[in-house]
Amino acid sequence: MPLLVTGTIGIDTVHTPTAKAEEVSGGSCAYFAAAAAFHHAPVRIVGAVGGDWPKDHAALLESIDGLCLEGLERRNDSKTFAWGGRYFDNMNQRETLFTELGVLEEAPPKVPASYNDSRLIFLANSHPSVQMDLLHKFPDRQLAVADTMDLWINIAREELLALFKEIDGLIINDSEAEQLTEISNPITAARAIIEMGPSFVIVKKGDHGAVLVHKDGIAVVPAFPLDADGVIDPTGAGDSFAGGFMGHIARAGNIDFESMQEGMAWGTVTASFTLGSFGLDGLCATTRDQLDTRMKEFKSIAKV
Ligand code: AMP
Repeated sequence: MPLLVTGTIGIDTVHTPTAKAEEVSGGSCAYFAAAAAFHHAPVRIVGAVGGDWPKDHAALLESIDGLCLEGLERRNDSKTFAWGGRYFDNMNQRETLFTELGVLEEAPPKVPASYNDSRLIFLANSHPSVQMDLLHKFPDRQLAVADTMDLWINIAREELLALFKEIDGLIINDSEAEQLTEISNPITAARAIIEMGPSFVIVKKGDHGAVLVHKDGIAVVPAFPLDADGVIDPTGAGDSFAGGFMGHIARAGNIDFESMQEGMAWGTVTASFTLGSFGLDGLCATTRDQLDTRMKEFKSIAKV
């Protein structure tokens, strides 16, 4: 099933309790695509960067097998999306230090005609109007799933609620689910979001795993257990989870509950490699064999 993603391609500055990384390559679309490409190729990217996009970031993205970059617009007179964040001691919580929207404030990127047969659409974190614009270009889609973030819940709530009426699924953090619904229980919050439109919701709970609330049932997956030295930078873990999840569904060619349950496990295992380094380096240094080995380990650890 042809898979397309739109979202941010960003320049990130990340502070953790023990280290700081400046201007590393990130963005919701980049993490998603790098993760999904382990499972299904090509992953079609729709996004934009500015003239300040570092050459090494471009080289890194171009080096990832299985990405189609035909829909990546390079706008020389514009600024690339940039984000800074700081993690607190438990690494499950962070605050945004700055967001420079850059190209996100301009017209959305164009979609190449060669992408028209895309059937799985992932709307990674971006302005809900940009997400909606993209969605409307794919009336024949089979599955549309979105992610969102505190910023958009704060500044574009109306647009977000309109988007919920048109998507099939939402992947969201526990804190953002609570912000959206004012309900702290993730299952009850997911049910409240389903009332707003999507037919399933996945709530990510950091190192407490994730829960899928779907019309055909509920599924849970624990986080992959990592020691403290395996958690260097959680940035992009949520996008990588979504990439593993959607990549698995694209490969399976099936959007039923069982496929989603298996996809949650692949999402978890794929995201565990993002946590080990700053930026996209963790995913880029991972091989398919390492992913398969960790999946076997995860299945035996998580067995009930
Ligand atoms: P995650 O840690 O999975 O929530 O994803 C963080 C990534 O999303 C970083 O690489 C950021 O560049 C990007 N990002 C941060 N804030 C936003 C936002 N408001 N919209 C879109 N992407 C964002």
